Amino acid sequence: MRYVIDGYEPKRLFEIFEEISSIPRGSGNEKGIADYICSFAKDLGLFCLRDQNNNVFVRKNAGKGYENAPAFLLQGHTDMVCEKNAVTVHDFATDPIKLYVDGGFLKAKGTTLGADDGVAVAMMLALLESSEDMPTLECLFTVEEETSLKGAESFDYSVVTARKMINMDSEDEGVAVVSSAGGADVLLELLTDRIPCPDRPIRIKVTGLMGGHSGCDIHTCRQNANRLMGRILSRLYARKPFNLVSINGGNMKNAIARECVAEISVIDREIIENELDILRAELEAELCEEDKKLKIYLDKGRASQKMLTYKDTSSVISLLTLTPNGVFSMSPVFDRLVRTSCNCGVVETSEDSVRIWIKTRSSQNSEHEYLISVLRRFGTVFGARFELSGVYEAWDYVENSPLARDFLRIYSELFGELGITPRTEAIHAGLECGTIISRLGGCDAIAIGPNVYDIHSPDERLDLESFERFWKLVLALIRA
Ligand SMILES: [Zn+2]
Repeated sequence: MRYVIDGYEPKRLFEIFEEISSIPRGSGNEKGIADYICSFAKDLGLFCLRDQNNNVFVRKNAGKGYENAPAFLLQGHTDMVCEKNAVTVHDFATDPIKLYVDGGFLKAKGTTLGADDGVAVAMMLALLESSEDMPTLECLFTVEEETSLKGAESFDYSVVTARKMINMDSEDEGVAVVSSAGGADVLLELLTDRIPCPDRPIRIKVTGLMGGHSGCDIHTCRQNANRLMGRILSRLYARKPFNLVSINGGNMKNAIARECVAEISVIDREIIENELDILRAELEAELCEEDKKLKIYLDKGRASQKMLTYKDTSSVISLLTLTPNGVFSMSPVFDRLVRTSCNCGVVETSEDSVRIWIKTRSSQNSEHEYLISVLRRFGTVFGARFELSGVYEAWDYVENSPLARDFLRIYSELFGELGITPRTEAIHAGLECGTIISRLGGCDAIAIGPNVYDIHSPDERLDLESFERFWKLVLALIRA
């Protein structure tokens, strides 16, 4: 194989990264990379276990001087996000990622690079191969982190003996993540009666909002289009009752909804125009800068449809306006960190029901359960069916983690002259750590990584010098 990275140490780490980049590994397509890891471990004569989902676990016994040291678990995911530029011709199922180096960064030609989380895969393999003495090393390579956390959820952890873990799915040098949020999807479904619609409905469209990630951006002032539509409908209904024909908004549970469309019937267009004019003026003063492109406009709806009764229309409006949405509580430990939140991400209308999807997140499992029970109770009030799915655990913050302390000390010792002050951080997004730690029944853990920018996009790039430092850091942490 011809390598494009040159001049970075240890050479094998960078070579392995290039080798795995030639193996297609989009989420759900991890067989090839699992084959590669297993044959790699077999060549080294190491204990290797692969489950039916292509999760792989490899163990290397302690080296000289580390016979009595506790074992260390290293972990990362083998799948990657497959995104490419519109003009790029690339088949993620079969084609290798085309790498090139540009000004100290490793990049891919027109596609995602897969440093998220190829960095972890390369690190673990290079450490397993390394002749440096170290404690017993247990390496867990999981599948489908980017889509469902199925790998971390399904793995049988009885084989793991370590209770110290470094997850390598973070992208910020100098930062150790010490807590992440758990999550769930809540569905509230209101079964609705339908009656014939005597006129052509009027369509109301909300568009132009900024939106964002339902975890990382939930604390911002950005409006949720579904909620805003609830406000519009509530206002109109107070003036004069009407019949809802349909409502559809947002397309991802984990994104703040940017658009919502509702069709309503048997109401004067003039009343709507008047009320919207007043509301637009109010919003002008309320909206944050990012949402200033908001547009609310009217259109003609589809003819000969069926509509909801007044009662069901009123219930849908209540559900939309009253559903908990946004920040539920803030962390008492971390400054400006959201602890628990929910996002009314998707609203959809079917033949006989209106469904509202809510993404919940929390870094504290008990409060998460409480929020879910609040939503269940809320649904009961309106006779809505409640369904819970996609639950994954939070990684609770633990004070005085020895590993976090080692990280802060060792990073400063090794790279103090760089002027970066290492720190710990909690995030309001999900990591596999929550699932793994709870399955292990507790484990001292941190999530770290080298600098990788613009992940999940074709601009993804890996800082090669940072990756070099990451090797030194992880090796020192393991040997500490
Ligand atoms: Zn990742």
